[in-house]
Amino acid sequence: MRVAVLTSGGDSAGMNAAVRAVVKQAIVRGCEAYVVREGYEGLIRGNIEAEGSSDSGAQTPPQVTRDSQGVEANLRFGYGPLLRDWEGDSTDDPTGKNLKGRYIVKVGWDDVRGWMGEGGTIIGTARCAGFRTIEGRMTAAHNLIKEGINALVVCGGDGSLTGADKLRGEWPELVAKLHQNGTITEEQANASKHLVIVGLVGSIDNDMAMTDLTIGAPTALHRICESMDNISTTASSHSRAFVIEVMGRYCGWLALMAGVCGGADFVFIPECPPEAESWEDQMCEVIKRHREVGKRKTMVIVAEGALDKNLKPIKPDYVKDILRNRLQLDTRVTTLGHTQRGGRPCAYDRILPTLQGVEAVNALLESTPETPSYMIGINENKISRIPLVEAVKQTQAIAQAINDKDFESAVKLRDPDFKE
Ligand code: ADP
Repeated sequence: MRVAVLTSGGDSAGMNAAVRAVVKQAIVRGCEAYVVREGYEGLIRGNIEAEGSSDSGAQTPPQVTRDSQGVEANLRFGYGPLLRDWEGDSTDDPTGKNLKGRYIVKVGWDDVRGWMGEGGTIIGTARCAGFRTIEGRMTAAHNLIKEGINALVVCGGDGSLTGADKLRGEWPELVAKLHQNGTITEEQANASKHLVIVGLVGSIDNDMAMTDLTIGAPTALHRICESMDNISTTASSHSRAFVIEVMGRYCGWLALMAGVCGGADFVFIPECPPEAESWEDQMCEVIKRHREVGKRKTMVIVAEGALDKNLKPIKPDYVKDILRNRLQLDTRVTTLGHTQRGGRPCAYDRILPTLQGVEAVNALLESTPETPSYMIGINENKISRIPLVEAVKQTQAIAQAINDKDFESAVKLRDPDFKE
């Protein structure tokens, strides 16, 4: 089996560890491993064929050796340094290889060495409008078929996983069309009857249903905690109030957990708008009480998607004005922004994607045309396989419930065992 892995949508810490795990487990299980640069954009761009060669690129013949487990493995293609550095496209590379015009790259064991602790995604990610069209997915299918790839691991959010499942669903039809119009040979069509896919959830928001944690969420939370610790000392020194805006789109997990970790006075999240007729009164009352028992600092967390009970967004500047005007607190707003997304993955964002990447390859190898596409999750500390379509549907239902002001359903959908 030829297994390709790509990262798509918003980047998150731990994506490199996921790619590394997929590549290494694929090799251990006797597969050939590929990475796709720039998400679905790379699938559509594919590899520009090398001049005068029917081969799809300038790859040197693999060095076949044995890995530490005695498995014959393609240890080194030498693309690791080039993958790390896109400038490799244009510079004179002493190995004589370059990645210019090459988006689907065969990799070996050593090419992903040292990737575990790197932030972001080395192979790049993108939002790709083209992949939303059937023509785009047809081109992507053609590029995969040219490389003989029949298994795909996609690490991204619900949008990316939806796109992957769509490609799989349409695959037989796409292959038939490509064959009919002479783009691929009969031999290629016969060798590419099925595509199997598995999803890994890379998202700092922890917004995917049916799994407890997504790759990147623990690191983002860690970053927020560090920032809160930093803000906390200066807030205490001046007896100030800080309103801190954190990411999370329509999911309040980061905000809520940050509130716990950082000892916030008040937290606003999308799923649970304040019930009081006036949240302004409620918040001021709580903060006043905290001040009266001697607290020298005030921290209020606002999730970027926070709403009041009338579904009006709660904005940090407005919260700041309330604290200034009603409680006379010297108040500042801090928007943490992309510091939450970047940087090295914390320990758990190395463990989780490694375990899940291994499971992704195992799931691919056990997939048949009849089995559903799986998303690899974690439930109650056990790595799990969840039908991808169901998880995506439920995630979208939660967003819809929040949109419809049906917060009870949103919370129930997110956690069926939730009790007040
Ligand atoms: P995320 O994966 O983080 O949710 P997006 O929703 O932006 O991020 O999706 C990332 C990419 O996945 C899109 O740019 C597009 O290429 C692909 N994609 C998303 N939704 C679909 C869809 N319904 N059909 C096909 N491709 C999709």
